[in-house]
Amino acid sequence: MHPDGEKILLTEEQIKLQVTKLGRQISQDYANKEILVVGILKGAMVFLADLVRKITIPTYFDFVAVSSYGSSTKSSGVVRILKDLDRSIQGRHILIVEDIIDSGLTLNYLSDNLSSRGPASIKLCALLDKPSRRIEPVNIDYCGFTIPDEFVVGYGLDYNERYRNLPYIMILSPKIYGGGKQ
Ligand code: 5GP
Repeated sequence: MHPDGEKILLTEEQIKLQVTKLGRQISQDYANKEILVVGILKGAMVFLADLVRKITIPTYFDFVAVSSYGSSTKSSGVVRILKDLDRSIQGRHILIVEDIIDSGLTLNYLSDNLSSRGPASIKLCALLDKPSRRIEPVNIDYCGFTIPDEFVVGYGLDYNERYRNLPYIMILSPKIYGGGKQ
């Protein structure tokens, strides 16, 4: 394990198995349709890249970048779109792909925003769900893992842009982010 980690929460193998299951389920549910996968940069990038290769229906990609954090480990509730979608989503089946749902503020803002653009449907796929810190309710249609209230990094998730390339998900040692709970 990386020396800044406290513990590996999800191994590469566990993630791989679950991503395969999610891809299979999504392909079944959207049989005979095509989807536009909307990835939320940058955290969802690694998950999205693996997930789409397990989806067997026609799949298109687009990306949004949002800023949601006041500090490096806590959501401020203020969401700003830094990069919008490239094309219109009117009449399309949208699958939002996110790395982790924590307070739910980012996702609520984004799904309201995308809903107002007239898509045929919107569903959400999140690799990780941290329900203990929810402020706004979020309906996760496809969820990889429910995790405890710990700050995790790896497999796309960062702390100050570090650790995104780790192939597993680990709990970051509190000494790295200043100690104490988030
Ligand atoms: P929310 O708006 O649901 O509070 O925040 C969602 C975003 O917060 C995620 O996309 C992610 O960037 C960040 N986030 C929430 N919890 C964690 C965590 O445990 N680790 C990392 N690296 N980012 C997190």
